Amino acid sequence: EKFRDGLTKTRDSFSGKVNDLVARYRKVDEDFFEELEEILIQADVGFDTVMELIDQLKYEVKRRNITDTAEVQTVISEKLVDIYNSGENQTSTLNIQDNALTVILFVGVNGVGKTTTIGKLAHKFITEGKSVFLAAGDTFRAGAIDQLEVWGDRVGAPVIKQAEGSDPAAVMFDAIQAAKSRNADILLCDTAGRLQNKVNLMKELEKVKRVIEREIPGAPHEVLLVLDATTGQNALIQAKTFKEATDVTGIVLSKLDGTAKGGIVLAIRNELKIPVKFVGLGERMDDLQEFDPEKYVYGLFA
Ligand code: GDP
Repeated sequence: EKFRDGLTKTRDSFSGKVNDLVARYRKVDEDFFEELEEILIQADVGFDTVMELIDQLKYEVKRRNITDTAEVQTVISEKLVDIYNSGENQTSTLNIQDNALTVILFVGVNGVGKTTTIGKLAHKFITEGKSVFLAAGDTFRAGAIDQLEVWGDRVGAPVIKQAEGSDPAAVMFDAIQAAKSRNADILLCDTAGRLQNKVNLMKELEKVKRVIEREIPGAPHEVLLVLDATTGQNALIQAKTFKEATDVTGIVLSKLDGTAKGGIVLAIRNELKIPVKFVGLGERMDDLQEFDPEKYVYGLFA
C-alpha cells in the first residue's frame, strides 16, 4: 500500500504512457520499441539501463514469439525486476549486530533528506524495541544540530552533540562512549554534506570513520548515502562522488513520492551497483520503506 501511494506520480506518468503506447501499437515493431525507449528515458531509468532493458525485451519477444503489444507489458515488469536483481549484493537488509552496538553512518549533500531519514529510521528501530542514539555529526551547517534534536525528541532518541563548528570526529567519539555506556543497540550518525570541496569531504569522512573503527572494530556497519529522487540524474552524479570518497554500503532514496521520474531507482542500482536499502515516501516518521523491487515494479503499474 505504502509503495503504491508513494509511487502515484511516477505511476500516473509512466504507466499512463505505456498504456497509451500499447493501445496505439497493436503489433510489436521497431517503432514501438523506440517509443518505449523514450518513455523509459523520460522516467529517469538512465540511458545504459534503458538500452539493456530494451535489448532484453527484444530478445524475450523473439524467444516467446510475442506479437501482441499487450503481452509485452508483462514482460516489461518481469525484466524491470530482473534488472534490479541482477548482479551481486542486491539485498536491502541492514547489517545489524546481535547483542552489540551497531553504528550506521549517513552521508549525502544538504537538503536531500538526511536528517529526516535518520529520524524515520530511529523511529523504525525504536518501534522494534531497540534503543537508539543519534550523533549530531553535521557541525557545519547552521541549524543541523537543532533539527536532529527535534527528530530525537519526536521519536524518543537521545542526541549526542557538541557546539556548532566543533570536530565531527570528536562528536562521534562522545556518541560512541555514551551509546556504549548505556548499552544502546543502534547509533545513527549524521555527517556534514558539503560537496563543493571533495578533498575536504573525503578527509572529514575518513577521519570520522577512523574514530568509529578505532572504538568499535568492524564499525561503521553501514554507510548509507541519502539521495533525493527528485533531482534525477544529478543524484547519480552525487552518488559517484560519494562512492569515490567513502565505501558506501547502501542507498536511501528519499522523496520518491515527490517525483514522476521514479525510474531513477533502476538507474542507481544498475549504474552504481549499490543496493537501494530504503526509499522515502513522504515526510512523516513512518514514511520510510525497506526497498522491495517487486513491490516497486508492481507499484509502477498497478
Ligand atoms: P538534510 O539537509 O539532508 O538533512 O534534509 P532534511 O532531512 O532537512 O530534508 C529536507 C526536506 O525534505 C524537508 O522538508 C523534509 O521534510 C523533506 N523530505 C525528506 N524526506 C522526504 C520524503 O521521503 N518525501 C518528501 N515528500 N519529503 C521529504
